[in-house]
Amino acid sequence: MSVNIPEIFGSNVFSMSVMQQRLPSHAYAEVVDVMEHGGNISMATADIVASAMMNWAIEKGATHYTHWFQPLTGATAEKHDAFISRPEDFHTLLRLTGKQLIMGESDASSFPSGGLRSTHYARGYTAWDMTSPVFVKEDSCGTILCIPTIFVSYHGEALDKKTPLLRSMEAINAQALRILRLFGNNQTKRVFPYVGAEQEYFLVDREKYLKRRDLIYTGRTLFGSPAPKGQELDDQYFGVIRYRVGKFMADLNEELWKLGIPATTQHNEAAPAQHELAPIFTMCNLSVDQNQLTMETMKRVATRHGLVCLLHEKPYAGVNGSGKHNNWSLGTDTGENLLDPGDTPNENLQFLLVLSCIIKAVDIHADLLRCSAANPGNEHRLGAQEAPPAIISIFLGDQLDNVVSQIISNADSIRLLTSGKLDSGVSTVPVINKDGTDRNRTSPLAFTGNKFEFRMVGSSDSIADSNTTLNSIVAEAFCQAADVLEHAEDFDSACYELIHDMLRDHQRVIFNGNGYSQEWVEEAARRGLPNLPSMVDAIPALTTDKAVELFTRFGVYTRSELESRAEIMFETYSKVLRIEARTMIHMAGKHYIPTGLRYVTQLSQSLAAMAVCPEACSDVQRTLLIRCSSLISEANQALEQLKALIVQVDAMDNMSQMAATYHDYVAPTMAKLRRPIDELELLVDKSMWPVPTYGDLMFEV
Ligand code: ADP
Ligand code: MG
Repeated sequence: MSVNIPEIFGSNVFSMSVMQQRLPSHAYAEVVDVMEHGGNISMATADIVASAMMNWAIEKGATHYTHWFQPLTGATAEKHDAFISRPEDFHTLLRLTGKQLIMGESDASSFPSGGLRSTHYARGYTAWDMTSPVFVKEDSCGTILCIPTIFVSYHGEALDKKTPLLRSMEAINAQALRILRLFGNNQTKRVFPYVGAEQEYFLVDREKYLKRRDLIYTGRTLFGSPAPKGQELDDQYFGVIRYRVGKFMADLNEELWKLGIPATTQHNEAAPAQHELAPIFTMCNLSVDQNQLTMETMKRVATRHGLVCLLHEKPYAGVNGSGKHNNWSLGTDTGENLLDPGDTPNENLQFLLVLSCIIKAVDIHADLLRCSAANPGNEHRLGAQEAPPAIISIFLGDQLDNVVSQIISNADSIRLLTSGKLDSGVSTVPVINKDGTDRNRTSPLAFTGNKFEFRMVGSSDSIADSNTTLNSIVAEAFCQAADVLEHAEDFDSACYELIHDMLRDHQRVIFNGNGYSQEWVEEAARRGLPNLPSMVDAIPALTTDKAVELFTRFGVYTRSELESRAEIMFETYSKVLRIEARTMIHMAGKHYIPTGLRYVTQLSQSLAAMAVCPEACSDVQRTLLIRCSSLISEANQALEQLKALIVQVDAMDNMSQMAATYHDYVAPTMAKLRRPIDELELLVDKSMWPVPTYGDLMFEV
């Protein structure tokens, strides 16, 4: 199979160059102007654009269009409408009007709103987000023209993840420009956050997947004993890609490239059947859209290959879960990366100011950053020795850390540790320059050369919340710095003093050691850093006075938008745990306990048969019978407890109390049910076991 990348790349995107070709020049100029400077396009131009867009899509085989948006479920939403109007008049049969392009009105009552919109005010509006390109999606139901939109209520409150993200991008743009102006930069017109999201995932055979109700209903296994082999040999990471997986990856790349998504890197990850894909970074809002499309495309392409793509953060206990590394930096329209230290960061005042603002922002709003990566699946991953702990800290690496220490201790002149050469000792291999920073995979927020890598985000989650948070907290720190420095008489010394003070006051959030260790948990407590192990602990961060002050000041969220999001998060947590608990009840009651009982019956029948033949050795049967019976009874007890608990929790009406009860009581009871069944799996005859095991799922892809 040969793929011509230049030919297919972006072929399904209504890109700027396609627009330039297909639109009259005045319409194109108006679109560009609105994209760059904001404002509204005229209805006359919207009609022209819509018609050109539809014709382009029809040439690609499209029959429908949709406003494509990102409600608070964390997934994407779409409702397809055919390009048909007035079927009695065949001349106007195919139509997309400017109005249809720009705005849609839909019944929003079935999307989570957290009380922002009571059911009798059901209107929700989708509005075209011109900063993200329109594309066509080739789906099993045909080819669909997708128009990226935001989604707001009748009163303009954000009902989606995209609106606050766009607002946060405006905030950081405005504040970063103030910083640049302080350094005499008057050319830059815009500053954008840039993001590249590395995406981890698992693949599983579809036939086997369909035999597991837990995978179907919850995306993760709720039962299962570890396979004899896990990831202990480290032989999977970067290993040779298996044939079927390779076919999937090739197909996936092609689909992503058509959508203009620059998927570049692919490799096997640490756990068996786990893989990773990384694209080239792009502007933050586009990156959020592209990541959503990537996840969606992964799932669709997997089906074609008889596979299922598991995006859950922890599909299997005992091996690594999946995350998403959100690489974040700030770039200007003139091509400068504000996080690039240059060769002499010690002398780069602008870089040091930007860096210290970020350190301050992260220290002050660690709780919000933690909360931005909270989802029910990530509970199983954060702090589990495979992903960063739930404590937020920053890794700077030796070189920068040393610069920071010198600044804090008021060193006369700030010197730079040389990173040196790397000599492998093999004469035929060239000596290479080392990076200024090593890697630290245990840190939630690592400086990696010219960007920060936020490593906490869960694999199934949208990256919108994390970036909205990063943009907003850094905008605040920039704003406070600009407030001081804009009035300074001696800019250089005032700037240096401010950098010094910020680093001194917020150095506690810098940690270059092992984030997986218990010592760090203790040390972080001594430093007063928040440790929010569970999502339930993290959600209240959204509605503190500090958070409300931050987000309302920069117009990112209103107070009621924050309260509604907290409400939805509590509700989601409870709902997910309820589904998991009910799935366990189903599987234990219908699959495992009946199987155990059949096996026990078989054992007792064989013992009874042996009773007539006293010389037969019956020890094995007897021991198995006793152990299995006791495990079944243990499981049955936990099952009854779980059933009773669900009934009790269902009667609660306070969302945060309900979530706390799920966390404190339901989750431990689920673990109590799992334990005896996982042991039973190791004892019962494999041919009787009702579902594929971990070995079947992870090693037969
Ligand atoms: P790794 O983290 O495995 O070392 P890279 O550093 O090459 O991999 O990049 C990981 C991701 O970071 C990629 O998606 C890449 O495009 C993105 N990235 C690289 N530079 C930047 C940047 N300046 N801003 C945002 N993302 C970036
Ligand atoms: Mg990485």
